[in-house]
Amino acid sequence: MQYYSINNRNTRVDFKTAALGGQAPDGGLYFPEHIPSWEKGFVTDLKRLNKTEIGFRIMKPYVGGSMKDEELFNVMAETLDFEFPLQKIHDNIYSLELFHGPTLAFKDLGARFLSRCLGIFSQQHDAQTNILVATSGDTGGAVADAFHGVRGTTVFILYPSGKVSPVQEKQLTTHGGNIHAFEVEGDFDDCQRMVKEAFRDQELMKMASFTSSNSINIARWLSQQVYYALAYAQWDEEQIPVVSVPSGNFGNICAGLTARRSGLPIEHFIAACNANNAFTDFIKTGTFNQKSSIATYSNAMDVGAPSNFIRILELFQHEYHSIKKVVSSQSISDEETLQTIKTVFKDYQYILDPHSAVAYTSLEKYLQLHEGKKGILLGTAHPIKFPDTVENAIGKTLEPPPSVMKILTLEKKSISITADYQHFKKNLQKFL
Ligand SMILES: *Cc1c(COP(=O)(O)O)cnc(C)c1O
Repeated sequence: MQYYSINNRNTRVDFKTAALGGQAPDGGLYFPEHIPSWEKGFVTDLKRLNKTEIGFRIMKPYVGGSMKDEELFNVMAETLDFEFPLQKIHDNIYSLELFHGPTLAFKDLGARFLSRCLGIFSQQHDAQTNILVATSGDTGGAVADAFHGVRGTTVFILYPSGKVSPVQEKQLTTHGGNIHAFEVEGDFDDCQRMVKEAFRDQELMKMASFTSSNSINIARWLSQQVYYALAYAQWDEEQIPVVSVPSGNFGNICAGLTARRSGLPIEHFIAACNANNAFTDFIKTGTFNQKSSIATYSNAMDVGAPSNFIRILELFQHEYHSIKKVVSSQSISDEETLQTIKTVFKDYQYILDPHSAVAYTSLEKYLQLHEGKKGILLGTAHPIKFPDTVENAIGKTLEPPPSVMKILTLEKKSISITADYQHFKKNLQKFL
């Protein structure tokens, strides 16, 4: 499989180059030159195949000649080494729980797949790959955990001091080894700005090989297709499911749409958004206007200009009416989010995190208008990651799982820097 840059279809590279580069040199996102159709029988076989086999078959056409089959198989086995249960909430709504991985967020899957791929590519060239990532909380933890101990990789995380939760901070700063955490006196935008500046710094780029691990990387994006198939493998209802996806940068839902194009039976998608509603407006009007982000309870979705929107356009040949047939969208307020967490706990004893609650509310609204249909929401985070909102809604204290108890006792190790690029660079160079 070749990948082209959305900015220029003539730029074509293989999986390895695209995964190592992150973004195309012209600044465009990479996109596969075609979407493979799954072979006949794969969908019916989903129920009897194990998850590694499912993941391997989905990703093989994308990874192509960039690694050996047995390497890809091992990458998949390690990536999927936790549970993806489909939990029934009530007769019409199920939750695909994607938060049983090491950092309790769905980003674990994509980050683990990416880290193992980059590990293999570094060894093929006997070269060191450095990963730079700015985080507002969740991404950094998933990336740190995924890359920890992966040979040939070194990770540098920038996070805003005092602006991530205690659990998130420990997830970023307690690994040691090949993971280095820079604690920045500033906010997330400062962290992001310094990472962007580093990638533009020719002197630095010549010193070592750097890549980024954010959600625009094809290895992270495309591997997310696997859990949509794992959901269908557990689906026992007659109706083809409607799927509701809590969306911020739209990498997750775009992976689901890609799996559907390959042949996965999904009736309809709902892009579940919080007050950041640029996509909801697009579905309503056909016009896309990016906005500045608004802070909400579901803060991992506080994105005003979703970077994977362009990939959704590309997947549907920029035809608004084709998109609208398959995808609808809802924008859910903080009040509704809180109310949903409360009601679902009271009625069904099921605890939603704020992101999953946005997806639940959106799905419920859709099902009210479409009688007889049933749906799945993607549970993207464990409620313990957002204790303030959830405890406030359900009126009781959450019990932290053992992994969280353990990480809170570990010692934080971070490098304090100011929000000045030169200060960051000087400290970074010490590790190169
Ligand atoms: C990142 C994140 C999202 C948004 O996913 P996108 O792929 O960016 O749309 C939703 N929920 C949680 C908990 C997240 O961490």
